[in-house]
Amino acid sequence: MLPDRGVYEVAIVGFGPTGAVAAGLLGKKGIRTFVCDKLHDVYDKPRAIALDHEIARVFQHLGLTEKIQPFLEPFTDSVFYGVDGQMIKRMSTVSAPYPLAHLPSMVFTQPPVEKVLREHAASFGCIDIQLGQTLVNLEQDDDISTLSLQAEDGSVSTIKAQYVIGCDGASSAVRGFAGIGLQDLDFDEPWLVVDVLVNEEGLRKLPTTSVQYCNPQRPCTYLICPGNHRRWEISINPGEDPQMVSTPEGTWKLLAPWITPQDGELWRQASYRFHALVADTWRNKRFFLAGDSAHQQPPFLGQGMCQGVRDAVNVCWRLEAILRNGASDTLLDSYGIERKAHVMELTTRIKGIGQLITERDVEKARTRDAKLLDECGGVVKAMPRQDVQPALTVGLLSPVLHPARGTIFPQPLLQNKDGQPLRMDEIFPAGWKVIFSKDAGSDVLSAVTNHHLPHLQVAQLGVGQLVELENVLANWFSKHAVLATIVRPDHYIYGVCINANDLAQQLDALKLL
Ligand SMILES: Cc1cc2nc3c(=O)[nH]c(=O)nc-3n(C[C@H](O)[C@H](O)[C@H](O)COP(=O)(O)OP(=O)(O)OC[C@H]3O[C@@H](n4cnc5c(N)ncnc54)[C@H](O)[C@@H]3O)c2cc1C
Repeated sequence: MLPDRGVYEVAIVGFGPTGAVAAGLLGKKGIRTFVCDKLHDVYDKPRAIALDHEIARVFQHLGLTEKIQPFLEPFTDSVFYGVDGQMIKRMSTVSAPYPLAHLPSMVFTQPPVEKVLREHAASFGCIDIQLGQTLVNLEQDDDISTLSLQAEDGSVSTIKAQYVIGCDGASSAVRGFAGIGLQDLDFDEPWLVVDVLVNEEGLRKLPTTSVQYCNPQRPCTYLICPGNHRRWEISINPGEDPQMVSTPEGTWKLLAPWITPQDGELWRQASYRFHALVADTWRNKRFFLAGDSAHQQPPFLGQGMCQGVRDAVNVCWRLEAILRNGASDTLLDSYGIERKAHVMELTTRIKGIGQLITERDVEKARTRDAKLLDECGGVVKAMPRQDVQPALTVGLLSPVLHPARGTIFPQPLLQNKDGQPLRMDEIFPAGWKVIFSKDAGSDVLSAVTNHHLPHLQVAQLGVGQLVELENVLANWFSKHAVLATIVRPDHYIYGVCINANDLAQQLDALKLL
């Protein structure tokens, strides 16, 4: 039986990457949180292998940059080859100076990174982690949620929490108990995912960039992962048996164009249906969905886990605002509204890349190749993966439209008093901020006085501690031609302002309490 520790402020069901990040974020704020998982250990095989700078910034906020560093490497470019083996597209990363002060795209090894996230969450006294506990029932009334948890010996305990976040993956029990359905975004393909630890001999045979083979006979993806880890995602053809192709013999047969069993060791091979699904709604009163419980998308851009981390950040700063700063409960409504719209837009873009890779009709594929080459005048230009990321378009955003609204505010490198580089969030931690350009005059600066935001941080570029090393912020202000920007605790831009009046009105309208 679980000990009776009274009413928790938050309960997190599922201690995968989404649940572990959520627990770490709440732990940092001293929020009394219960975490459970039906399993004891992290899944020991990699599933996610790519992450981006937004997620690296979250890990930085958790104080984990150095601990996670050994398991990260830069993501190589992805080259797309057409029907006749010609390059038709290339995806790269934005070049330095980096907008968020981290490599924009990375590959990583999921199990050790998950371990670091779990250990971090467990380091807080306010986080109570119970493993080997399966959620078997969930109820709520106006005041409280009640979770029933089954231990491995069959005994059932109940715990109570004000709010519940379902981070319990694709088959989410929380989603079921909350009565939330899934919307099918119309992508359903059988693929084999193969992870190989390749030896020196094998590595010499393999491409030195990641590759999308847009081959109608057998679309597939080759990915360069950390160290000697290489991944193939190979489409399963009509008539092929997913069970057969995922046996070692079946898998080596499909790997034959690249390597043989002498060249490496199979780490994991599994057949999947690549889906595109999103939860109808992400909130039912005290229950919230986050991570794979709320969405699943094909892995063509490596964004599944990244989306879960975005969910965790988004719901946790809202919960903190309610539990610690007395914000209105309605603040929680915009969580699902903005995350669902963002997930749907990104999934649409990922599906677009998927459809480009998986065209099975040879003539249509040749037309695709000709069109792509035509569009770039015959010379393929690298497109940064970050260009595919959508902005937030609905939710807690200023009514004043601007291309920067809903995008992520940069994190410039600043210099400390000894001239050493420091990332901006190390000096100005997550929270509401108004950041002024160096051109903002005293009228604009003084417009910040009228606001309802708790712990608002205010800074002007070039003044005090906000002296940057690489012009990232200066270039951002001049590109957007604004004098001030209102930044949310998750670093998304609430709104931008071009004069004092504009700033005063937006701050005045922004009432969270
Ligand atoms: C082949 C493949 C490739 C991928 N590549 C990438 C990539 O490159 N980049 C990327 O960002 N993402 C990628 N993803 C997606 C990524 O792996 C997932 O999005 C991510 O692991 C989801 O994390 P999560 O914490 O939401 O869910 P999960 O990792 O599924 O964790 C859910 C947890 O909940 C627990 N649980 C379930 N039910 C219960 C219950 N009733 N009671 C208690 N506990 C419960 C489970 O034991 C589990 O620990 C890929 C996925 C696949 C399959």
